Amino acid sequence: NGTALAELDPSKLKVTITSSPKAYSSPDSTQWGMMDATTDHMITARWTDTHGWHAPELRPYARMDLWPTASCLHYATECFEGLKAYRGFDGKVRLFRPSRNAARFLTSSTRIACPTFPPDAVEELIKALLAVDAAKWVPEPGTFIYIRPTMIGTGRALGVQKPREALFYIIMAQFPKLDNPMKLLASSEDSIRAWPGGFGFAKVGANYGPSLMAQKEAQTKGYDQILWLFGKEAYVTEAGASNFFCVIKSKTTDKLELVTAPLDDKIILDGVTRRSVLELARERLADEMDVVERRYTMQDLAEAHDEGRLVESFAAGTAFFVAPVTDIHFRGKDIRPAKGGEEGTYTNKIKSWLVDIMYGNAAHEWGVVV
Ligand code: PMP
Repeated sequence: NGTALAELDPSKLKVTITSSPKAYSSPDSTQWGMMDATTDHMITARWTDTHGWHAPELRPYARMDLWPTASCLHYATECFEGLKAYRGFDGKVRLFRPSRNAARFLTSSTRIACPTFPPDAVEELIKALLAVDAAKWVPEPGTFIYIRPTMIGTGRALGVQKPREALFYIIMAQFPKLDNPMKLLASSEDSIRAWPGGFGFAKVGANYGPSLMAQKEAQTKGYDQILWLFGKEAYVTEAGASNFFCVIKSKTTDKLELVTAPLDDKIILDGVTRRSVLELARERLADEMDVVERRYTMQDLAEAHDEGRLVESFAAGTAFFVAPVTDIHFRGKDIRPAKGGEEGTYTNKIKSWLVDIMYGNAAHEWGVVV
């Protein structure tokens, strides 16, 4: 009938504060993954195809109920984001480039036929949740909280179709520091994370469930994450839930190169950390190295290793931050960057630049005070 559907509108937020707050204890890394270390509140917003977005609510963290026929439970109409809020050394709480996460969330939601929304509204709702929970859950300089915006198709229908109802919610959870050196197991030929024309560029749940068998195998064999390869050429793509970088001395020019896989094939996630590493390196390391996004193979890495040209490698993402990679196992061969461990000069440099922005030691537009 031509009536426009209601837009997601943070100014309509209805707030209900919990009457039974949780007990706070600092994040416990030994419990990581085993617990539901969420904060006191969450944000929810319902969408229906007849009305559009209903008023968002900030309310006590609680269970949700879904119909057994909810779209997300059958057809993987689910996507999510992951970002952190950091308590700076000046006492202020900052998000790191939240507009990038909000934009990617829209890309992901669109890819699975879930509703669209103004990305700014997501950013504003994240800030609203922090306004209520940050004082208790991000208590001291140097602490942070993990934020998980999520979209699920909740429409009731077993027919395979675009969901007619959806739920957007934001939860926050404690998270240990996970930037220890990493060992990677290269994926086998029968375990492909993403492919051209697929959805590897979207942060949809459907990319993660099917990766867990390989992840489990890596851990059983003593590795931390899978290094995802693509194609019979064994192109290097990304590492677990992080993007992957190498510092290589070029064979032809003898110059250092910071190398990572390109976004054009749409098989890797456009990581906010990846983007930031590239931008900072281009701005601050231009005299020392070329910063390149290009396809490269395990063969290229093995050759660089054998010729002593593989200087450093690291994984970069919100969860594992910037983690040096000390070992890559690929078809019976161990590839170890010359400076894999603690003392990777460039790895450390890049990491400390990012820390300074996140915790407000360096004024930068990427650190958004909430
Ligand atoms: N690749 C994958 C597959 C991921 O899940 C993530 C985590 N979001 C990343 C890379 C890193 O992205 P970001 O730096 O935005 O956390």
